[in-house]
Amino acid sequence: MTAASPTRSFDVVVVGAGSAGCCAAIASAMSGASTLLVERYGFLGGVSTQSLDTFYGFFTPGDRPRKVVGGIPDQVVDRLAGHGEIFLRPNTYGAGTGVTYNPEYLKIVWDELVASSGAQVLLHSLFTGIEKRDSSYRLTLTTPGGLLAVDARRIVDASGDAHVAHALGMPLEDAGTVDAAQTFTTTFRMCNVDLERYRDAGGKTMLQQKMNDAVVSGRHPLPRRKGSIHAMVQPNCIATVAVRVPFASPFDPDALTRAEMEGRRQAYVYETFLRAEVPGFEDSKIIGMSSPQIGIRESRRLYGAYRLTRDDCLRQARFEDAVLLCGAPIEDHRMNADGEEETEWCYVPDGGVYEVPYRTLYAPGFDRILVAGRCFSADHSAHASCRSMGQTMSMGQGAGVAAALSLEKDCAVGALDAVKLQARLRDLGAVIEPPDTVAATGKDDWFRNR
Ligand SMILES: Cc1cc2nc3c(=O)[nH]c(=O)nc-3n(C[C@H](O)[C@H](O)[C@H](O)COP(=O)(O)OP(=O)(O)OC[C@H]3O[C@@H](n4cnc5c(N)ncnc54)[C@H](O)[C@@H]3O)c2cc1C
Repeated sequence: MTAASPTRSFDVVVVGAGSAGCCAAIASAMSGASTLLVERYGFLGGVSTQSLDTFYGFFTPGDRPRKVVGGIPDQVVDRLAGHGEIFLRPNTYGAGTGVTYNPEYLKIVWDELVASSGAQVLLHSLFTGIEKRDSSYRLTLTTPGGLLAVDARRIVDASGDAHVAHALGMPLEDAGTVDAAQTFTTTFRMCNVDLERYRDAGGKTMLQQKMNDAVVSGRHPLPRRKGSIHAMVQPNCIATVAVRVPFASPFDPDALTRAEMEGRRQAYVYETFLRAEVPGFEDSKIIGMSSPQIGIRESRRLYGAYRLTRDDCLRQARFEDAVLLCGAPIEDHRMNADGEEETEWCYVPDGGVYEVPYRTLYAPGFDRILVAGRCFSADHSAHASCRSMGQTMSMGQGAGVAAALSLEKDCAVGALDAVKLQARLRDLGAVIEPPDTVAATGKDDWFRNR
């Protein structure tokens, strides 16, 4: 198959429609650029709708939570809340208060928000190649109808795996080559759980004890003793982050195949355990696993004009070109030499926040491309803090506005005036200065923070 002559031409093409890519496309289109959002699967949202149901990163952890995300991410949650499809999950430890949502309804919300921004969408379209032209790029998409060529004046690579950046030869770090990479997880969901009975029997504390006993006694070969479960928006359903599969190259199809199968196998080890040992789960069943693919926490990261570091997170760094904030801890899921999972939790001191500079979203010498989401420029530890969806949505928002603004100013993405970019982001409602206000994080408190 050869690429068809381009039938479509856009100011901005966003590759990958996860939480970062959807926000990038919405922001770009709202900023006046003709925008195309390209996604390989048949729905929007990426990991946000494939396998998860809780936005972290909106609030700082600790007993004085502050809301550090705003703008388009707020619109996403507003729409979910307006339909009764969220609840706040108050949490003073871990990653802080989570916004738990109905992931199936979120698919509709992404559809609506992207459509109302004016961005066009191509689903079932896999980015497979790129050619540099004088003042644009020509992307090749593999679609159900064959190859399609699309011209773009600016690109936002929000593919998670930095596929566009890789194809262009941009400087990238492969996860696992500098520091040990984080494990994979097949999240799974169960229905018909008697949550009242589960809570009455001791809830989370009881579950941890039973997991430990199951492993020590040899009754159930659970791969991880600290797996978590939580109630979903759908009644009597729970979601898990329990499976752990050792990291392997996400670009090695043999390794990825083994990981997918191992993740599914482990999910049923948990189902057997939960049904046999945990009050409330006797009649429960798995109703879904992370699909269409296993959860990959990290793969490739850009070496951008700035690389966010562990030290930046812990010293609560400030940057003149800040485009988002993060207060989430470094949460690093690794395996020790005995094959046991060890999770490092390292908190930003005093419930503080750090700023993330615009320079983490582009690389010198590449004037027309930005990245957003989990492939942004950070070291392993900073990435382990700044990868929650509150932050990936904010990165997308920043990259989308920057792409459109660089066209308006007719300049390279790296030559943008940060003050002007920040002003546009503030107009959208983005939070880029650390707030003082303590947020309300009770069960139904979303709108009190808006
Ligand atoms: C197991 C696990 C648990 C997590 N738990 C939480 C949590 O509870 N809360 C939280 O806030 N964060 C959590 N995270 C982190 C967070 O979910 C991710 O960092 C974030 O969702 C990444 O968003 P993204 O948009 O960068 O990437 P993705 O959501 O991966 O989106 C990338 C999109 O690009 C598409 N794509 C890829 N390649 C191509 C191509 N060649 N052509 C076209 N499209 C392409 C993909 O299909 C996908 O839709 C978790 C992550 C994992 C793996």
